Amino acid sequence: MTLLSAKIIWFIGVAGWAVIRHPHARRSRRTPTVRRARDLALLTISSTGMFVLPAIYVLGSQPRFASYPFQPMLAWLGTALFAGALWLFYRTHKDLGRQWSVTLEIREQHALVTQGVYRYIRHPMYAAFWLWALAQVLLLPNWVAGPAGLVGFGTLFFLRIGREERLMEETFGDDYRRYAVRTGRIVPRLFKAG
Ligand code: SAH
Repeated sequence: MTLLSAKIIWFIGVAGWAVIRHPHARRSRRTPTVRRARDLALLTISSTGMFVLPAIYVLGSQPRFASYPFQPMLAWLGTALFAGALWLFYRTHKDLGRQWSVTLEIREQHALVTQGVYRYIRHPMYAAFWLWALAQVLLLPNWVAGPAGLVGFGTLFFLRIGREERLMEETFGDDYRRYAVRTGRIVPRLFKAG
């Protein structure tokens, strides 16, 4: 494993993510929405950290002052995490189906999904993005481009998660509250409460 191959793996990971998402993005545009919360600022911050800054590093090796020596072992670990992220990402899109949207939305006839990967965690798609952000740190030896994903996605995650769960509670009431008790947010709850 060389620095160049680590950069190519990062790029393949991002391209794989785009391929998995593409058909869902198309369907999402055609699915009617009854409630929507626009959060363009958060999406911009997240994509700057997950895509723009790492792409500048991968293509132009900038910012140079922030680079540190490449460690093949870390890059292998990052490759495994990115593969895991893409698998989880694929599964979540399959399980969430037409309920998925980029911003917070409630669809016409929105169904509460509690099966598949949603059986164990409430936010498996966000868990997949956390794995991607960690993979980015391990693959790109640069103090700006590496952690930018954690900062960017972390900002979206922490500012959105409470609002998303409130929206789910307002829409699904006790069904969501009961579901929330038996699941973890991004880490599976191993011991059932009560
Ligand atoms: N937070 C989830 C989903 C991300 S997509 C995850 O990480 O997997 C965001 C949209 O999914 C929100 O607009 C919300 O309406 C919808 N959503 C989130 N959890 C859901 C669930 N359990 N069932 C149905 N829709 C859900």
